[in-house]
Amino acid sequence: MNPIDPACNCPVCKDGKFTRAHLHTIAGKEGAGCSLLTQHNIWHMMNLMTTMQQQIEAGSFPAFVKVFLEKQYPTPEQVPAWVVEALCAAGLGDLFSKQQRDKHGVHHLST
Ligand SMILES: [Zn+2]
Repeated sequence: MNPIDPACNCPVCKDGKFTRAHLHTIAGKEGAGCSLLTQHNIWHMMNLMTTMQQQIEAGSFPAFVKVFLEKQYPTPEQVPAWVVEALCAAGLGDLFSKQQRDKHGVHHLST
């Protein structure tokens, strides 16, 4: 029985108090289920934003995004169009191949 994310240190995941199976059972049935999932999600997003800020300040944000995308989308074909479009607009179009940009109709690297 695993927590939502074994690597997460949020109050919901740490110490294995709440397992995925338990949360799945109570989500949508008990208010506590939604509350616990929200706590994990907010914790995750706050950590992600902190890491992104640190990466930007260190000048390593593009490399961080590359690794993040590889974890989220194991193959380039899985990267959604909106992600390609948003990162190209943010000046990170170099992360994608020309073929990938063309597939999603992004013909410029940044605005
Ligand atoms: Zn968590």
